[in-house]
Amino acid sequence: MIPQEAAEAAEARIRSMLLRVESGGDALGIAVAAVEAAAPFLRAQALAEVAPLIHSLTDRDYCSFDHHGGCQAHGYLDLQPGETCPQQEAKEFVKAHGVKDDDASKD
Ligand SMILES: [Zn+2]
Repeated sequence: MIPQEAAEAAEARIRSMLLRVESGGDALGIAVAAVEAAAPFLRAQALAEVAPLIHSLTDRDYCSFDHHGGCQAHGYLDLQPGETCPQQEAKEFVKAHGVKDDDASKD
């Protein structure tokens, strides 16, 4: 979740930039700067929304690799030795983005 104060500060900054357009400023340059100011917050918001969804799609079982490197548990049989199973990547993604997991077997 985006801290409310940070989101409000970004919005105030963007509104201030847009007021400069009304004052005859460089509209394109100001619009680009506004988008750049908003981008980190939009990204954080998107991650906050998608991380729980990815969490709900992860499988509880641990990976189980065959001698070719494929994950038998999740059906990713074409993995090469050293490649990571997408299920493991998904679990690491949700953990990195602060999704609380009440089921430790997903780790
Ligand atoms: Zn796997």
